[in-house]
Amino acid sequence: MNQYIIQNIKLSFEISKDEAFAIAKHRLLKFFSKNSIGEMKIYKASVDARKKDNICFVYSVAVNIDADTRVNEKMLAKEGIVPLKEDSLDISFGIEELSERPVIVGFGPCGMFCALLLAENGYRPIVLERGSSVDKRTEDVERFSKLGILDPESNIQFGAGGAGTFSDGKLVTRINDPKCSYVISAFHDYGAPEEILYKAKPHIGTDYLKLIVKRMEERIRELGGDVLYDTRLDNLSIKNGKVVSVHTSKGDLPCGALILALGHSARDTFAMLSSHGITMQPKSFSVGVRIEHLQKDIDEALYGSVAGNPLLPKGEYNLSCHNGDRGVYTFCMCPGGQVVSAASEELGVVTNGMSNFSRDGRNANSAVAVSVNPEDYGATIESAIAFQRDLEQKAYVAGGESYAAPCQTVGDFIGKTSGREPSRILPTYRDGNVTMTDLNGVLPGFVSESLRYGLLNFDRKIRGFAADDAILTGVETRTSSPLRIPRTEQYLAYGFDNLYPCGEGAGYAGGITSAAVDGIKCALSIMERYKQF
Ligand SMILES: Cc1cc2nc3c(=O)[nH]c(=O)nc-3n(C[C@H](O)[C@H](O)[C@H](O)COP(=O)(O)OP(=O)(O)OC[C@H]3O[C@@H](n4cnc5c(N)ncnc54)[C@H](O)[C@@H]3O)c2cc1C
Repeated sequence: MNQYIIQNIKLSFEISKDEAFAIAKHRLLKFFSKNSIGEMKIYKASVDARKKDNICFVYSVAVNIDADTRVNEKMLAKEGIVPLKEDSLDISFGIEELSERPVIVGFGPCGMFCALLLAENGYRPIVLERGSSVDKRTEDVERFSKLGILDPESNIQFGAGGAGTFSDGKLVTRINDPKCSYVISAFHDYGAPEEILYKAKPHIGTDYLKLIVKRMEERIRELGGDVLYDTRLDNLSIKNGKVVSVHTSKGDLPCGALILALGHSARDTFAMLSSHGITMQPKSFSVGVRIEHLQKDIDEALYGSVAGNPLLPKGEYNLSCHNGDRGVYTFCMCPGGQVVSAASEELGVVTNGMSNFSRDGRNANSAVAVSVNPEDYGATIESAIAFQRDLEQKAYVAGGESYAAPCQTVGDFIGKTSGREPSRILPTYRDGNVTMTDLNGVLPGFVSESLRYGLLNFDRKIRGFAADDAILTGVETRTSSPLRIPRTEQYLAYGFDNLYPCGEGAGYAGGITSAAVDGIKCALSIMERYKQF
């Protein structure tokens, strides 16, 4: 039995995908007998909206061929037929004894996938997560959103599932690693809708993510692992370059290997790690604001007269440009989503975005961010974090010191004017708990200037992007980690024998899928070295 993919089958969006199967079969019949062609399924589907009068789905179809004769691959390729290579994880087990169970800090995508793989293979990991379980965390996030009462340990950044739980759950990544398909299949196995297996831009949504996180946690426990919520890593005991135990907010634990899957917001933990001489390097990151439009306007700009047709997905965009050396780009677009309050420190305001699977909210939002380089902030870890924190605190003050966010219409922001109130497009941050003010007074001059440049540039790509009544809410400061913890090829922190920095916080990922892949890589490296526990 051989598996093939029949690529590049382009059909008008109104034509049923069954037609893609018919076209695939027609091409296959040039090489294989009718009886040898097995069941077909959609392998990938993407939208091509470059020509608004001819919007298409582009399909790839996967098929099993029950034939012994091998056909020349070059001939097949001419018809867009290529062999399907199933990706599997290359797991091998080492011989070194683990002195104690491995401890993973952080139950975001990186920690979850690392823990799942170690648990499935008999390593019985213990996960420490400073934030709370899904249900308790949901209450904490809702309390903050409704009443402005922040729990600095359980919020949009910290808790079960990590920063990605209250998100749009986009799984698109720029990394090109075969382990991405393992991650996507696992999300599906644990409850994500089937379409994530074949959509070119898969997304899960907050509603499904919460369910998936609970199921993964249950599975880790069934396999002999532990997930300890409301348990913060506070300090380490290190002997001869080995972490021998961890000190947590709930007591001490022995540790055979320590996996740091901290995410980018664990500022206190970074300081603790630095005090132990763990090398960290400041790196570039981005800051900016969230922009909101009506989803219907984005759909119209992207799809023209057929916008709103239920056969089409909600319109998505991904825009970038350069203002001199400075990158400006949109990031984390949430169709039909809402802007969320993503602070994890008191007296700071941070924005981000989320959607449910249906993406049926009125507004579309995305971050519009400007690159910040080490020379902009002083090129140290402390100054990088101080730069982010200063902006978050300025936003808190500008919002009125109640976790209301500073907000401005695009018209006023670009024109450096004031006075426009939200009209057609209503801000969704904390159900409209915003203060209309001048964001130019909150953001550094170079960020405001580049944002203005970017907004006007993006307006040429998506009509209405810089419409006067589009809404900007600030500040977006947690786009990626401000630091990197250098590591060896074995994923070890330099100078340490059993300390594994990984995921977004250590500077090795920039989203859900890439963080999960990094967690998998780290687990594979641990298994290659050590025996099962
Ligand atoms: C609102 C929002 C929406 C997003 N939307 C998307 C999206 O649609 N698609 C996408 O790809 N990415 C999205 N992202 C980014 C994505 O969530 C992150 O890139 C990803 O979660 C990083 O995974 P991670 O496991 O490395 O870190 P995290 O998910 O940040 O997890 C780290 C975990 O470590 C815990 N922790 C930290 N310090 C300690 C300590 N000392 N002791 C114990 N536990 C600790 C934290 O509580 C946290 O739960 C979004 C982020 C946010 C905030």
